[in-house]
Amino acid sequence: MVYFPTTRDAPRSGFRRAVDALANLFFPDECLGCRLPLARLQDRGLCDGCWQKILALRIRPPWCPSCGLPYQQWGEGGSHLCSECILRPPPYSGARSFGFYSLELRRSVHAFKFSGRRNLVGLLAPQLGVAFYDTWTRSDADVIIPIPLHPSRTRARGFNQSALLAEHLSGLLGIPWSPNVLLRVRDTLPQVNLTDRERFKNVRRAFVCAKPEAVAGKQVLLVDDVMTTGATVRSAAGALLKGGAHRVWVLTLARAVPGVMT
Ligand SMILES: [Zn+2]
Ligand SMILES: [Zn+2]
Repeated sequence: MVYFPTTRDAPRSGFRRAVDALANLFFPDECLGCRLPLARLQDRGLCDGCWQKILALRIRPPWCPSCGLPYQQWGEGGSHLCSECILRPPPYSGARSFGFYSLELRRSVHAFKFSGRRNLVGLLAPQLGVAFYDTWTRSDADVIIPIPLHPSRTRARGFNQSALLAEHLSGLLGIPWSPNVLLRVRDTLPQVNLTDRERFKNVRRAFVCAKPEAVAGKQVLLVDDVMTTGATVRSAAGALLKGGAHRVWVLTLARAVPGVMT
């Protein structure tokens, strides 16, 4: 079991504690999971109870060895390929996610992406590291590449959540990351309201590998925040392989699974 310290573990000075107490007095915070008042701002918006619930959402085998689709909630015996991977084998060599895109983890990812809680990366990126070592070792990946946003969306949001996760993961694993290798050349619709079929059509040819020399002959770890149908990572992995990557692995923080409460 690999342990990645999160910034929750960092010791705080008396001065820092006094500043936090003052800040709490004037800007009371609430837990983004359960909405209870938070005693300490340094919890990054999550109380201990909700943090434990996130850890409990961790995905464990049995799963599909190819796309990482978990089976435990259906009690389907051992790990085996899912029907989607049998019918349409993905271009990537394997995909894994840290936890179910559900409940507190879903709320945290939303807060991270849309509510300006960028500092949640300090809690979330270490969980990507845990999921990485569930399946791979350090020598399985030469470079980490985030799923890019279209430039217009990056401008609107102010940052790319996948790039922030990839940057922190790079520091934790000691594997370099490259933000500008994969580009999103089409401003696709948000996948959230589309059917499965529309999602695949929406992201077709959405990505290009702008710097083939950065991936040629290398094992690439492709990082994103959430995987749903896998349409986006299939398209992105295809572009990297076209650019000459030897192999592409996919790692996401959360996995949206049909039938799991959101
Ligand atoms: Zn809470
Ligand atoms: Zn599968």
